[in-house]
Amino acid sequence: MKKLIRSSVAGLTAYTPGEQPRVAGLVKLNTNENPYPPSPAVTQVLRDFAAESLRLYPDPMCNALRGRIAELAGCAREQVFVGNGSDEVLRLAMRAFTQPGGTVAAFEPTYSLYPVLAAADELKYRTVPLPEDFSWVMPPADLDAGLFCLANPNAPTGVFYPLESIRGFCRAFAGVVLIDEAYVDFAGGRDCLELAKTLPNVLVCRTLSKSYSLAGLRLGWAIGSPELIGALYKLKDSYNVDGLAQAVALAALGDVGWMQTNARRIVATRERVAAKLAERGFRVTPSAANFLWVLPPAGMPAADLFAQLREKKFLVRYFPGPRTGDFLRITVGSDEQMDALLAAI
Ligand SMILES: *Cc1c(COP(=O)(O)O)cnc(C)c1O
Repeated sequence: MKKLIRSSVAGLTAYTPGEQPRVAGLVKLNTNENPYPPSPAVTQVLRDFAAESLRLYPDPMCNALRGRIAELAGCAREQVFVGNGSDEVLRLAMRAFTQPGGTVAAFEPTYSLYPVLAAADELKYRTVPLPEDFSWVMPPADLDAGLFCLANPNAPTGVFYPLESIRGFCRAFAGVVLIDEAYVDFAGGRDCLELAKTLPNVLVCRTLSKSYSLAGLRLGWAIGSPELIGALYKLKDSYNVDGLAQAVALAALGDVGWMQTNARRIVATRERVAAKLAERGFRVTPSAANFLWVLPPAGMPAADLFAQLREKKFLVRYFPGPRTGDFLRITVGSDEQMDALLAAI
């Protein structure tokens, strides 16, 4: 009988997103969303938005947004790609920067979407194991891959890798390095933008989902050489970012100060909670993101703690597996949410 589904798709394991509970009353600390609302400029745009304008297709190139992002990044508009969430940027990069049957590489552990996207495009996925403390390791010089996905700060560990280490790797690596900066606004002003603006094989991607409190909007972007950016534009859906999202994103990026204030609050909460958990015997990985990667004290297995917190209506993230199964990833919420979590623990 003819197979209805392509074999590689039939064999695919889909990405497992964090639970999005549809019931009220849960303290949601599992998908790194922002506890604070988006800028009032966003609310204003939504109020004033003319439904009439949806009659027409949106700008396929997102030119107004590209201009604003280029202004913020200090680069040319041709160096900016705007996507339907940075997940779209990642998906397109898989195809744009590998040959058929080629290889994508990444550290282990890292963002668990990368291997899923590679498998969807029938690409091999090669991992470079991180050391026990999840700090930087130089990938091997003979690494043969078209694309290296490098989350910085890394997920789910929160570790920030030094710019000079990443620069050294980007210079040595023959393929494209995609530096995924989904959490960079919580990293105290450090980033790798300079590498995307100066090296021909480096892309940086960012998102409104975390620091800008707009995970529901689906808006991300990449910055790099016009050549790499042009390749992404060739592959995208014709109208990949809807008109409403373009308008809202422009408003959000017009109020960077609002985002920075929220990011500072989250960083202050993060440091306070990290110290409290350490006092209670948790091993807390130093975090440059809006979450904490913690090893619970002996006698308190992560899987059990996860289940017990779930019963008490606290949702955190547990990733089974040899490198991650002893840890929990806890999103930094508001101070009230985190105090309640500490009490529950
Ligand atoms: C959340 C996250 C993203 C996804 O961002 P979207 O713009 O919401 O698609 C990308 N990379 C990492 C590492 C993330 O944690």
